[in-house]
Amino acid sequence: MSKSIGTGVSQAREAGMFGEFGGSYVPEDLQHVLAKIAEAFDRYKDDPEFNKELRGYMKDYVGRANPLTFAKNLTEQVGGAKIYLKREDLNHTGAHKINNTIGQILLAKRLGAKRIIAETGAGQHGVATATVAALFGLPCTIYMGKYDTERQALNVFRMELLGAQVVPVEKGQGRLKDAVDVALEDLVKNHESTFYLLGSAVGPHPYPTMVRHFQSIISEESKAQILEKEGRLPAAVVACVGGGSNAIGAFAHYIDEPDVRLIGVEPAEAASIAEGVPAVIHGFKCYALVDENNQPKPTYSIAAGLDYPGVGPEHSYLKASGRGEYVTVTGKEALDAFLTLSKVEGIIPALESSHAVAYAMKLAKTLPKNESIIVNLSGRGDKDVEQVFEMLHKQ
Ligand SMILES: *Cc1c(COP(=O)(O)O)cnc(C)c1O
Repeated sequence: MSKSIGTGVSQAREAGMFGEFGGSYVPEDLQHVLAKIAEAFDRYKDDPEFNKELRGYMKDYVGRANPLTFAKNLTEQVGGAKIYLKREDLNHTGAHKINNTIGQILLAKRLGAKRIIAETGAGQHGVATATVAALFGLPCTIYMGKYDTERQALNVFRMELLGAQVVPVEKGQGRLKDAVDVALEDLVKNHESTFYLLGSAVGPHPYPTMVRHFQSIISEESKAQILEKEGRLPAAVVACVGGGSNAIGAFAHYIDEPDVRLIGVEPAEAASIAEGVPAVIHGFKCYALVDENNQPKPTYSIAAGLDYPGVGPEHSYLKASGRGEYVTVTGKEALDAFLTLSKVEGIIPALESSHAVAYAMKLAKTLPKNESIIVNLSGRGDKDVEQVFEMLHKQ
């Protein structure tokens, strides 16, 4: 029997509503296309054949299950609760994003898609999408703000190596938001042939629910692993939050375990939950950083993957309902954690994940030694080494 990846807990009931958050605030022609994707997702998520294929790729291509590593040296240095690292950094392509792109492309194939499109900001989701498009032999167009293509030239080249066409988007400010707009226009125009592979637990229904489903393998594995190692559940699960996909995947199987604290860590420089207000952006309702005209505000985090003015609707709901805790960490604290983990554990974390590590270090000190904390190490830091070099040598 092939089990389904994902659980039903706290999933959106009505058209992707999480309390007042989520939903689908889009024009009617797009609504029809999204309904078709939602229907396919509902049909296949519990389909044994679909799940057998998904599990196969997760194992033999992504390299799952990845380990839950006890960070012994870090734990000793910090003093307090045991710190465990869920090693999404060890996946093929170096982060959690591949879990979602494999899941969605299998669905796209079931829908008969002949072509894949995606948006990307820093390029990480673009690379994960180009990777699976290559694997499944589907042509792939990645929309990327022109400004971002210039900042991330190497990721553009990486996507091109993988056979994708990268289209620089000049309209608006040439940023992620503009790339999303153009991708949606493409989808509406070409929906018969095209599947839009969205990169985080954001956007209109069914994307937040679907992305969470494919990412929830993180907590499915970590729960079994911590029970095996510790014989009990962790005191807390800590994950960084950009759009919220790695965090919701890391939380999913613990949401119904009231004794496990769920802690999302945002960059202080782009704290959608901590400083945002409920608003509709990019076709769904969430906590968002908006200006007086309700337009998303530009943000700046040292971790490009966390630089998003909104957050997934389920995180918005977990915050509003009190089940989740959301905290902030500064770029400076994240950089210190990046350096510490590299030095004491021999693991160079992504700058995004370093935000979670930074908070876990603060939290561990306050908890007894017999408790444990799981930190979701969403990605590896190879991509960030040059940026950290510049940050250290600038001062
Ligand atoms: C993209 C990315 C993130 C942020 O995205 P979420 O959807 O919030 O998970 C975090 N860590 C890494 C390594 C990333 O590549």
